Amino acid sequence: MGVAAALASASPIRTALSQFSLFDRVALVTGGHRGIGLEMALALAEVGAIVYCLDLPSKPDQDWLKVQSYAAQLPAVDGKKGRLEYIAGDVTDQSEMWSIVEGIVKKEGRIDVCVANAGILRGAECLEYPADEFRKLIDVNVNGVLFTAQAAGRQMERLGIKGSIIMTASMSGSIANQNQHWVAYNTSKSAVKQMARSMACELGVKGIRVNTISPGYIYTQMTRDFLDTKSHLMAEWSAQNPLGRLGRPDELRGVVLWLAGDGSTFCTGSDIIVDGGHRAW
Ligand code: NDP
Repeated sequence: MGVAAALASASPIRTALSQFSLFDRVALVTGGHRGIGLEMALALAEVGAIVYCLDLPSKPDQDWLKVQSYAAQLPAVDGKKGRLEYIAGDVTDQSEMWSIVEGIVKKEGRIDVCVANAGILRGAECLEYPADEFRKLIDVNVNGVLFTAQAAGRQMERLGIKGSIIMTASMSGSIANQNQHWVAYNTSKSAVKQMARSMACELGVKGIRVNTISPGYIYTQMTRDFLDTKSHLMAEWSAQNPLGRLGRPDELRGVVLWLAGDGSTFCTGSDIIVDGGHRAW
């Protein structure tokens, strides 16, 4: 069948939906046990991916067990269905990250999607920021993202897989706010965006794409912990975007599905902003 005939006979709805299908694909999501990472992992599994959710070693908690039983109920298509796997690791350990991804590939045969999402937030005044805390934050938010992307990218290159690497940056990589004392965090997120652009340039020739997602304020454990100490900021943050509220972690599902799947195969080196219009305000 020629291309024109194939296009004419294809159902447009089926074609559009198939761009979001991840059956037979394998994904890694760091920081995948809660918050934004967990929502992203669930979304990927719902459309068929085998998803490895990596976090610091700890006993799987009740929430994770609930997630597992939810995942067990995912619908099967042609006898296949998505799956969520718990995996312990520390993104700041380069050799550990490389061998974790090697292990996933040994088990599953491939790695197609890597979401380098794990991150931490600590605030301190810029002139007093303790050196060890600054280093720690950069270690997780910058080095950890690099080590994760390297681990997946090396396997994608070796196996000739035109994979998608997605990094969670932040609108804080482009803006700053006098009340937050986020000099380290803002610096780290800015670095992640430039890391993605640089890696996209190097890896594009192999068909490997690298993009960032930049969320605005999303209500998760990370922001809850911060707001516990500065509760007045809740109203201030909400008023800082046209939608007048914080985002929910599930509001990042669509964008990760798009970047992970075949609907975005010409998108690399980009930063996709999901901030409730913060910067339009
Ligand atoms: P959470 O704090 O809820 O989740 C972060 C996850 O990362 C936790 O599960 C944490 O594990 C894990 N993690 C931390 N350090 C490491 C490490 N060294 N190795 C492996 N895993 C680690 O945060 P969010 O879901 O809110 O944030 C997810 C990402 O989104 C972060 O990169 C954050 O900077 C970014 N982001 C968040 C925004 C928001 O408003 N919430 C806005 C913009 C960006 P553990 O539970 O063991 O600590």
